Formats: sequence, structure tokens, C-alpha cells
Amino acid sequence: MSRSTFGRVPLGILCGTLWACGPQTGGDAQPESAQDAAEEPPPFETTPVAEGVWRFRWQAHNGLFVSTPEGTIVVDPISTEAAATFAEQVRATVGEQPLLAVVYSHRDADHATGAQVIRTALGRPDAPIVAHENALEPLRQAADPDLPPPDVTYRDEMVLAESSRPVRLSHPGPSHSDDQSIVLVPDAGVAFAVDFVAMDRVGYRDLPGWHWPGQLAAIRHLLGLDFETIVFGHGPNSDRSAVERQLRYYEDLHQAVAEAIADGLSEDEAAEEVRLDAYASWGQYEEWFPMNVRGMYRLLTER
Ligand SMILES: [Zn+2]
Repeated sequence: MSRSTFGRVPLGILCGTLWACGPQTGGDAQPESAQDAAEEPPPFETTPVAEGVWRFRWQAHNGLFVSTPEGTIVVDPISTEAAATFAEQVRATVGEQPLLAVVYSHRDADHATGAQVIRTALGRPDAPIVAHENALEPLRQAADPDLPPPDVTYRDEMVLAESSRPVRLSHPGPSHSDDQSIVLVPDAGVAFAVDFVAMDRVGYRDLPGWHWPGQLAAIRHLLGLDFETIVFGHGPNSDRSAVERQLRYYEDLHQAVAEAIADGLSEDEAAEEVRLDAYASWGQYEEWFPMNVRGMYRLLTER
């Protein structure tokens, strides 16, 4: 399949008010003027990424679907409400293809909820759910019918057996969570990575449950994969340079906080004083960067 037909999705479609809202921040996305209101993006949209690969955006969250000769692979149902629309969009885009599998990028509820809605709506309620093995026990114990545990798991990497078009999952190690799966569509040069990297945005709040230095290793793992286009769980698509910027950000955050600790600053003092002006234009910098400092401070001192 040719990569040149689609190339990269135009950047910037999702910037502006939507991008500013990020996950779970609620009302940040309110339009500030009538003009902004007119430009408010629709609540969802399906965007071609490459041949047979689409991003489904629902508010501030992105899922992915991949068409193969045998059927469709859906990644991250997002929510029960999103999943119903997601399924409609898949149908409208690929037609009556069978559903081959639902993949979880990781088990967080704001990305993984809704698989049963997708499976039922696409006519295959028993289509396998695939996720990293570390997602299995927590989801079994949670016993949430809206977020069922995976039927198929793997440890390091796997190729989805349902499809003759290679779709690879690989686990980058503990980072934002301990159960991340990067989805790679090698013949399209597309990778989908969620929450441990995002488009020119600082980390989520005080990095709850994040792993260090696994976070750096995970980004390096992603950069070791052969892709040209990156689709994030939040925000617009980009290319490898955006992932390289994420690596630099977390390296710079680490260095700045380590220096603050070495200088004897308390966590409160570090959150007050540490700044990384180079990232001041990034998403959520004002709100979340001081929280990132706190999170990194704890990661470096509480072990
Ligand atoms: Zn997450």
C-alpha cells in the first residue's frame, strides 16, 4: 500500500479551544467569543490518517480504527456514549466489514470504556478484546461491564492474528501506566500512543501513578519503532519530531526538579520556583506544569 496517497493528516485541525481542554478538565473549552463559537469544532469527527487507517475523535479523546482484508480493528472505545458514535462512524467509513478485535491502549476508563457497545453495534459481541497482560487482573477485579477485561493479552509485543494486514502491538514498559500498548500499522507508517506522550502538552496533572524512569524508556521505545505519523490519545496528529519533543520535555522536567531537590527546595518551593519557559506555549502549561513538578518531585524522593 502506498503511503504517499494520504501522507500526513493536516495539522492544527484540533487546535485551539478544544486542544486547550485536554482530558478531564471540563469547562476549559468554553468559547470566548461569538467568533470562537462559530469555530468550535464538532463534538466528534473521523479523519483519515493513512490508507485504511482513521482517527476517531470524541471531544478531547482520540481512538483509531484500521481496515484490513479480513475486517476492522478498533482501538480505544473511549466511553459508552462515544462508542455508539464510534461504531456508526466505522460503519459509515468501511461499510459492512466484520469487527476483528477491540484493542485497549491501556486500561484507563477514559480511553477503554465501551467495548461492548462497539462489539454489539458492529455485530460481533464476542470479538476479542486485546490488551497488555497488566490490564487483565485490575479489570477482572473491577468487574465493570462497561470496561470488560481483555480476552487476549501479550507481554512484549504481538501481531494481531485476526488480520493479514500486520497490526502490531508493543509494550513500552511502565510509564503513564504499567499496561500501555502502542499500536503500529507498519505498512502505513502510523503509530498510536496514548497518554505517556501527547501533542506539545505537559504531563497529566501531578503524574498520578506514573513510573520513573520508565517514562523516558517508554518514549525511547516509541521512537525506536518505524513510523512516520503519530496519532495521540489527545490532540492532533504529528510526526516523530513531536515525540522527540516529548522526550526532551520529560528529560528537562527531570533535570530541573532534580536540581531543585539538590538545592534543598521543598516540594512546595519547587512547585513555586521551577519553570521551563521553553514549554510555556504548550498545552496545559500554566495549569499543570507546577503539578508536573510536584509529581516529579515525589517520583524522585518517595522511593
Ligand atoms: Zn490514561
